[in-house]
Amino acid sequence: LGRRINAAFSELSRVPVVDDAAVDGLLKSVCAALLESDVNVKLVQGLRNNVRGTVKEQLNEGGDKATRLTEGQRRNIVQKAIFDHLVQLIDPGVETFKPKKGKANVIMFVGLQGSGKTTSCTKLALYYQKRGFKTGLVCADTFRAGAFDQLKQNAAKANLPFYGSHTETDPVAIAGAGVASFKQAKFDVIIVDTSGRHKQEGELFREMVEIGEAVTPDQTIMVLDASIGQAAEGQSRAFKEAADYGGIFVTKLDGHAKGGGAISAVAATKTPILFIGLGEHMTDIEVFRPQPFISKMLGMGDISGLMDKVQEVQMANPERQQEMLKKIEQGGIFSIRDWREQLSNIMSMGPLSKLAGMIPGLGQMMSGGGNDEEAGRKMKKMIFITDSMTREELDSDGSLFFAPVSRKKKEKKPDEAGGKQVASTSTAAPSSKEKDAKGKKEKVPVRMTARARRVAKGSGTSVREVEEFLMQYRMISKMVKSMGGKAGWMKRMQGAK
Ligand code: GDP
Ligand code: MG
Repeated sequence: LGRRINAAFSELSRVPVVDDAAVDGLLKSVCAALLESDVNVKLVQGLRNNVRGTVKEQLNEGGDKATRLTEGQRRNIVQKAIFDHLVQLIDPGVETFKPKKGKANVIMFVGLQGSGKTTSCTKLALYYQKRGFKTGLVCADTFRAGAFDQLKQNAAKANLPFYGSHTETDPVAIAGAGVASFKQAKFDVIIVDTSGRHKQEGELFREMVEIGEAVTPDQTIMVLDASIGQAAEGQSRAFKEAADYGGIFVTKLDGHAKGGGAISAVAATKTPILFIGLGEHMTDIEVFRPQPFISKMLGMGDISGLMDKVQEVQMANPERQQEMLKKIEQGGIFSIRDWREQLSNIMSMGPLSKLAGMIPGLGQMMSGGGNDEEAGRKMKKMIFITDSMTREELDSDGSLFFAPVSRKKKEKKPDEAGGKQVASTSTAAPSSKEKDAKGKKEKVPVRMTARARRVAKGSGTSVREVEEFLMQYRMISKMVKSMGGKAGWMKRMQGAK
């Protein structure tokens, strides 16, 4: 889905004139991609109409004035309208649950058998454990033979405390006892895995309700298999009625799942997606955030997803991270050195193709949409580039690699004697100087300095690649800055989710 919409967007950036036809063309591609990904037809139609409305209004408003919009501005209006409406599709705009430390937060999982409940429970438990929550798992699936062993195995691998029984057959009793015992042991997060059936049947729903009554969850999460396509809408509705869940965990978004069904489910139940599963491993979990998700889909990078990943690694060295954040908070720069450090942290996490997609500008650069090898090569090159930088360069914001294109040649031309006289007597001279300085602050064409050539040579890359690196760094540093401040990044790095 992402690749097709991404392609449509790049197409828009190539058309010379952003007229109605170009807008329609883009919308058509975007909608076709959505439909093909199993997004509900009505939703797609709605999106199309809304975007058209917004775009028409903004492009043509004020008659004459609108004709003065540059093509670049028109392009931005169209892209932003599509971006905003896509975000609206997957963002029901409700506050999501966040566990608090120092109290028992009970999270119950529901969903059909095979949707990925047990796997996702463990992923989430590990996720919270990594963030400093004392977390335990309860297996209340007595329906499927071997369910407890599966959970036990997963939990043991991750060093997660678990509760379950081979002999007890009443899921309600186990759930109640498990939660009670973890509560007594002062656990912060208690996750309850329940059974599923192959179908949505009365018996399953009754059991769900009873377990819910026994454990009184603070949060109920429905697990939705992304590969079920259009069926997602009906399934999410049925579960919503039986067990009023507050969040959705979409699984199997790796592989070939089209994911559009998840979007339809959100729209149908007005329930937010909280997490997504991207593989069978316990670390293949991502916090879902609508805006970054869409911007990643459109090839604009996913900085907060990236920061989540960084945060995981930083848990091993929280002091260092705090130091950097403090520096930025106090108005310091996010230097190339800081970016290098984050980048090498990121690289230790893998899989690289997924991570590269989160780096603005890097995902798009990878031709095939990214395999691990190519992503690894690109990221290694970035590190090589920083290896060839001096201390001063690393501690900078990169601006010393760029020099404004000189326009002074005319003035400096060794002049006839009269030139000096004119300059000193005429009032025109200082004012033109002023203009010059002003112009520099606005848009002055820049060129790479000899530094860039030196770094390229030293790192076995090209000046072009050094330039790309610096551009990416600039995007990241801009975003880090904008995320900074007490309300932003800092908080996110400290609390979970
Ligand atoms: P449950 O019956 O709902 O508890 O489902 P399980 O947790 O047992 O998962 C069913 C299958 O889906 C297992 O083979 C899991 O490894 C697989 N699975 C779960 N989540 C994901 C995911 O995000 N990606 C992929 N590729 N497989 C997953
Ligand atoms: Mg299970």
